[in-house]
Amino acid sequence: MSLKEESDKLIKKLTDYRRELHKYPELSMKEYQTTERIKKWLKENDIKILDFPIKVGVAAEIEGAYEGKTVALRADIDALPIEEKTGLSFASLNEGVMHACGHDFHTSAIMGAAMLLNERKSELHGKVRIIFQPGEETGKGSEYIIEKGLLKGVDCIFGMHNKPDLPVGTIGIKAGELMASVDRFEIKVIGMGGHAGIPNRCVDPIILATQIVSALQIIVSREVNPIDDIVISITKLNSGTTWNVISDKAEMEGTVRTFRNSMRNDIRNRIEKTAKGIAEALGGEIEFQWLAYSPVLENDSRFEKMLIEVAKENGYNYVKAEKNLGGEDFAFYQSVVPSFFVWMGVDGTEQWHRANYNLKEEALMVAANYFSEVALKILYK
Ligand SMILES: [Zn+2]
Ligand SMILES: [Zn+2]
Repeated sequence: MSLKEESDKLIKKLTDYRRELHKYPELSMKEYQTTERIKKWLKENDIKILDFPIKVGVAAEIEGAYEGKTVALRADIDALPIEEKTGLSFASLNEGVMHACGHDFHTSAIMGAAMLLNERKSELHGKVRIIFQPGEETGKGSEYIIEKGLLKGVDCIFGMHNKPDLPVGTIGIKAGELMASVDRFEIKVIGMGGHAGIPNRCVDPIILATQIVSALQIIVSREVNPIDDIVISITKLNSGTTWNVISDKAEMEGTVRTFRNSMRNDIRNRIEKTAKGIAEALGGEIEFQWLAYSPVLENDSRFEKMLIEVAKENGYNYVKAEKNLGGEDFAFYQSVVPSFFVWMGVDGTEQWHRANYNLKEEALMVAANYFSEVALKILYK
C-alpha cells in the first residue's frame, strides 16, 4: 500500500471511530460501552492493553525495541448531560447525553497516535503508554487514574483539548499557567420562615442570600489584587415555595476560578467569613461546604521548545496558547509527573458544552500525527 493509501485508510478509521463514539456518548465514570469500544479497537489494531483494576477507562502500551523512557499520552472519554441539537447523521442516540466537549475527538485522535506509533515500535527507545481517562467533566477522573496506578513508571505525560476558535492545523502551546483552578462551594442560608405580611417576625433567607451574592463580588473587586485573575460565580440560588410564605432557607451554589493555587484557600476562607458575617448580622446562619476540584493547570516549561519544534517540523502552525478559566482535571497529573497540555485547532461551530457543538474532523489526523511525533521525538535516538 502506498503512503497516501495508508494515510487515507487511517483517516477513514479515525473518522468512523469518532462518529461511533459520538453516537453513543456516556456520562462521567459510566463510560462502560466506550471502554469496551476502545478495547475492541486496540485489539483490532494489535495494540497491547494493560491490566489495571479499573471499571472504566483503558490503559494501553506500545513497547519499543529498545530500553528507554515511558511517555504517556492521555485522552478523556466522557460526555455531558446535554440533549444534542446538531442534526448530524451520527448524532447521539443516548437521550440527554452528548459529546459536547469533543472528547470523542480526543479519544479517536489519541487512538490514531497509538496506531501510528505501533507501526514504528521497532524504532522506539522506550514505551508509550496510552491512557483513555474517564470522568474528566466531573473533575475526578484523573485522580482515579493516578490512584489505580496507571501512571506508575511514566516519565512524562501529554494531553490536549480541542479548541473551536483555532483553525485546523494550528496548535496552541504555552509554558506555565494554561487553565484555572476549579473549586465549588455550597452555602445553605438558614433563616426563619413565616407569613409574608409579617416579615419582622421572620428571618427572610432570600434577603440574606441576595446580600451574600452581592458581597461575594466585593471579594473579587476589592479584596484581591486586581492583577490576579479570579472569578467567583454564583450559579444556583433556590428558595421559597409560594407567594405568601417567607421561606426558612435558601440554597446557593457557585464556583471559584483562579490562576494561583496559593489563593484558593484564602478565597475559601473569605467566602465563608463573608457569608457567615452577613447571615449572622441579619439574624440567620449558614452551613458552608467547599469542594476542591482541579488545581491550576501549569505546563512544564522544559517541554515547550520541543513541542513547538514538532509542530513546525510537521508543517503545523504554532500559536502561543491563550489562558482559559475552564479548568481541566489533567492538572492533577502534574503533581505526579512532568506534564504539558496543548490546544488543538478544530475550527468548531461554537464554544464547548453547547447542544450544537461540532468540529472539523480533518483535525483528527493532525492531532494523531502530532502526538505520535511528540512521543517519537522523545523516544527516538
Ligand atoms: Zn467539557
Ligand atoms: Zn473537555
